[in-house]
This record gives sequence, C-alpha cells and structure tokens, in this order.
Amino acid sequence: MLKIEHIGIAVKNLKDSNGLFEKLFGQAHYKVESVESEHVNTSFFKVGENKIELLEATDKDSPIAKFIEKKGEGIHHIAFEVEDIEKESKRLEKEGFTILNKKPKKGADNKWVVFLHPKSTNGVLIELCQEIGDCD
Ligand code: ZN
Repeated sequence: MLKIEHIGIAVKNLKDSNGLFEKLFGQAHYKVESVESEHVNTSFFKVGENKIELLEATDKDSPIAKFIEKKGEGIHHIAFEVEDIEKESKRLEKEGFTILNKKPKKGADNKWVVFLHPKSTNGVLIELCQEIGDCD
C-alpha cells in the first residue's frame, strides 16, 4: 500500500456537514459527487496532503444508512492507495482477509475500489483504491 488516500466519514445530512467541516478546516469542499452503485452522495475536502470524504445515504438501502443506524455518525472507512488493486486484493485474500468485492468497482473521485470486511480487520472497514486510468 502506498499511503492513506482519504478517510471516509458517515454523516446524516451532507449539506449540514459540509458547513460544519468547512468551519473546521477553514476551507470549503472542492468536490461533490454521487455514487449511484453505493447509494451515497459524497463531498471531498483537502487538508494539506490529506483528503476527507463525507458520505450521506441517498436511501435506506445504502450501506451508509445501515452504518448510521447501527453505530451513528462517525468514521466509516480508511482508504489506502495501491499501485495495482487486483494484485493487492489477491495478496490480501491469500493473507486471509475477507474481500467484499473481488472485482474492483467504480467509486467516487475517479477510483477503482475494493473493500475489506471489517470483521477481518479489527472492526475497521478498509478501502483499497487506485486511480482509474492507471491501468485501463
Ligand atoms: Zn472512500
């Protein structure tokens, strides 16, 4: 893995949270994006070299809606940038981690993404991501 790409935070209301995090960081989000496959609206903030992704559910079937129902708002996942997402997910599967989607899917921010089940990573949902276009 190369670095932490971003940290994802589950929020109930993206508009309210955009205002809150704008105050916190002293700057506005630079991007808003809907990911239909995940049933989420997202916004991204830059803090120095780091990115924070806010995620709001678009309906009750969204993984974010289920997360908030169980745990409330808060840190939802940590995303790591990888060089070769297929190779890395195969390596991690061999190491015994539970891969939620073996075929990388299109996530927010022009990335291929693969998720590891939190039951295999001490309760932390891990996202692997790789910029789309690097290999396709
Ligand atoms: Zn993410």
